Amino acid sequence: MVVIVATVLILLVRLVEEIGPEREPGDRFRVIRILDGDTMELLGGDRLRLLAVDAPEAGEPLYKEAIQLLESLALGKTVGIEYSGRRRDRYGRLLGFAYVDSLYINKELIEEGLGYIYLFRDTRLASVHVKDLLAAQRRAIEARRGLWALERIPESHYVARSGSFRLHRPGCRSVQNLVETEYRRFTTREEGLATGLSPCRNCKP
Ligand SMILES: [Zn+2]
Repeated sequence: MVVIVATVLILLVRLVEEIGPEREPGDRFRVIRILDGDTMELLGGDRLRLLAVDAPEAGEPLYKEAIQLLESLALGKTVGIEYSGRRRDRYGRLLGFAYVDSLYINKELIEEGLGYIYLFRDTRLASVHVKDLLAAQRRAIEARRGLWALERIPESHYVARSGSFRLHRPGCRSVQNLVETEYRRFTTREEGLATGLSPCRNCKP
């Protein structure tokens, strides 16, 4: 009996050490391939799309750099996944916050300016994962790292539809014909993006 109790206690201590006292035990997978700056293939065939991050697409600046960073952080390693809301997107990919030991992969991409924070209405904004991402994005903006160092054609101002997480150039068709109560206005793109908005994929502010 004593032996059983002692064994259970040792196992519990090991479990707490492994996952940390604050974190829930998430699914753990080995990363076998990096597909792009925010998507990985896992042993067993599943794909993981990093939640709340949008890395550059093929043909866009810093596309390769984002892939290289993700490779250096996660390829061949075991990632722990923490979910928020729905577990899969419409392509069947897992959606989550990824950790290699205590290293928060989603945050590293944003910290280096190799991805934008990318939120949806159903994102739990108050979660510690999202707060860490927002703080990392503000630091990347301030240090002008990666995407934040690229030259862009400035606009007189930028707009976001109320309740939406996308920032637009004022001429974008997504924000045409809005009355003043339906949008928020920002003087610079950094001002809008620092609040957790991400650039519209059409007008690319
Ligand atoms: Zn737009």
